[in-house]
Amino acid sequence: MKSEEILKQIAGEVAICTQCELHYSRKRAVPGEGPFDAGIMFIGEGQGFHENEQGRPFVGAAGKFLEELLAKIGMQREEVFIGNVVKCRPPANRDPKPEEVETCVSLYLERQIQAINPKVIVTLGRYSMGYFIPNAKISEIHGQAMQVRGRLVVAMFHPAAALHQPSLKPSLEQDFARLPELIARAADAPQYVEEKTPERKEEARQLSMF
Ligand code: SF4
Repeated sequence: MKSEEILKQIAGEVAICTQCELHYSRKRAVPGEGPFDAGIMFIGEGQGFHENEQGRPFVGAAGKFLEELLAKIGMQREEVFIGNVVKCRPPANRDPKPEEVETCVSLYLERQIQAINPKVIVTLGRYSMGYFIPNAKISEIHGQAMQVRGRLVVAMFHPAAALHQPSLKPSLEQDFARLPELIARAADAPQYVEEKTPERKEEARQLSMF
């Protein structure tokens, strides 16, 4: 199946998904949007009120700021893919739970990444960073490029966080300004070596027995 068709199929599945409790607070699912062959994927956290109403990602103040940041590096939002780790709105704007992120990413985001095959994934905020680079602190690694599971990943602050906490704004602007250079020098990015959790160590031990 072609990438474009895969993305359409995923959008259809997401619209009726009941695989986690976030579907109860969903008005419209937000599968994400952008070209099927986008070079950059921006991955945020979850939907807010406006996203839930419109079925589109980053349409509020944070979206406007994201568009401004893109414009400063000569890009428009139509050129990139923008999505979130969960496709439905968490109730009362609470944070998505780890199991909700795990479920939604494994069912949908992973397939979107495979289909789009971007040059770089930019994580926006702690929750999407945590999926790719667990146990990291965003204050320590933002703006750094890393090779994670064969893909270039750059963690950045969430635009909404920078709007609420203006001291983060210069960091986000600087990280964005460096993005073209980080993509050009992707080969120089260090490998991120995942620390194995006790469960993963046990899985690895069991696998090594075969
Ligand atoms: Fe399904 Fe994801 Fe929505 Fe949960 S957040 S109901 S897994 S689409």
